[in-house]
Amino acid sequence: MALLSIVKYGDPILRKKVKPVTDFTNLEKLVNDMLETMSHEDGIGLAANQVGKDMNLMVLDVSHLEDETDTEPRIFVNIKIVETDGEIMMEEGCLSIPDIRAEITRPEKITISYQDLNREMHTKQFTGLSSRVLQHEFDHLEGKFFTDYLAMAKKLIIQKRLKEISETGFPSVSVTL
Ligand SMILES: [Zn+2]
Repeated sequence: MALLSIVKYGDPILRKKVKPVTDFTNLEKLVNDMLETMSHEDGIGLAANQVGKDMNLMVLDVSHLEDETDTEPRIFVNIKIVETDGEIMMEEGCLSIPDIRAEITRPEKITISYQDLNREMHTKQFTGLSSRVLQHEFDHLEGKFFTDYLAMAKKLIIQKRLKEISETGFPSVSVTL
């Protein structure tokens, strides 16, 4: 396995909608590298374009967190959102936008369809933190950031920090909105 470098805010690959995965041959190695990188960075979700790959692929692992019932790392290929339900506010952060956190309102439950590494199709509903991470990572695959949801006044507060991240990889101060 190998650690991959995390693509930061400002890189054009994070503003593009990714391509569907059609070739599954070397996916397992990439997925293992993504899982190792995510764990190394203390992340709980990682989209393929966050490591520079233009692919509809993401990993999720909340198993090490207290109170989480999802007990193993999960891998999703060619994800589509089937249904959402409810609304809840939660704080989010992002490996591509380090040291910036903000409360964001999103649907509480999400039903997605996806393929596993053997190309098999699944449809599954998620709630709680897993639902939240999935929606955050799905946005990455669509070229969106959690900060896009902020009201203009809050966007202005972090504007300078986002510019710093795009230039140096990190903001000069951390911000929680
Ligand atoms: Zn993110």
